[in-house]
Amino acid sequence: MKQLDVKLMHPKEQINVIIGRIYRSGMTTTSGGNISIKDGNGDIWIKPSAVDKGSLTVKDIVCVKKDGTIVGQHKPSSEFPFHNAIFEALPELTAIIHAHPPGLVAFSIARVVPDTSIVPQARKICGEIGFAPYGCPGSEDLGKKIAAEFKNKKYKAVIMENHGVVLGGSDLMDAYQRFETLEFCCRTIVNAGRIGKVNTLTDEQISKYIHHFQKHLTIYGCGISIGRARNPNRNGEYYPSCLRSGIDDFYLRNRFGSLERQ
Ligand SMILES: [Zn+2]
Repeated sequence: MKQLDVKLMHPKEQINVIIGRIYRSGMTTTSGGNISIKDGNGDIWIKPSAVDKGSLTVKDIVCVKKDGTIVGQHKPSSEFPFHNAIFEALPELTAIIHAHPPGLVAFSIARVVPDTSIVPQARKICGEIGFAPYGCPGSEDLGKKIAAEFKNKKYKAVIMENHGVVLGGSDLMDAYQRFETLEFCCRTIVNAGRIGKVNTLTDEQISKYIHHFQKHLTIYGCGISIGRARNPNRNGEYYPSCLRSGIDDFYLRNRFGSLERQ
């Protein structure tokens, strides 16, 4: 599947593009939800506080540096504490999405974890899902509760009681796919329940699919995102698309894949 290759994009651009997709598809409200990316320097790029998602631009995205310095035109999202707590709990994550999508929020209010075994792809993409007890939005307490749920069971998706959902990923596209699929499952489970019994697949049926998928992946390279160097220099390094979109910060992606500020 050809998909958005975030590896070639500046963190500001990635956040802006994915927030646009989430907001325009009705998966969060104007004020609810936020996205962050941790770069190779350990700095965290995040959506600002109190900026309408419908009019957000790349210039609005804020950077909270490792030493706590804030760079940007706005204050970072009030939910920054839990983004930071999750990045500290699971260093392998580099992207976090938090949103208030109607399907997942309904499950968070009913205090039910959706069974994603309704279709084999969903279970594979979403993995096991955690459930964090309620905490006041924006508080350190909420951060601790969510980070503990991520850390204890190595979850990459955690439903927040009477609030929303938070998802982690190896990059932003990985987190976004998990988010979109999980919300699809929640809405589908509710719709199926209106028609009749919600039947799920067995573990055997799902592992057969995963086995088939892995074989397919090995043979054809399917699903692997291969970044092309659009403007490589003589060392084989390449410039991400921030240069084309006019972002001030200058980044260079090294040959090992991490972003380096120039
Ligand atoms: Zn929220």
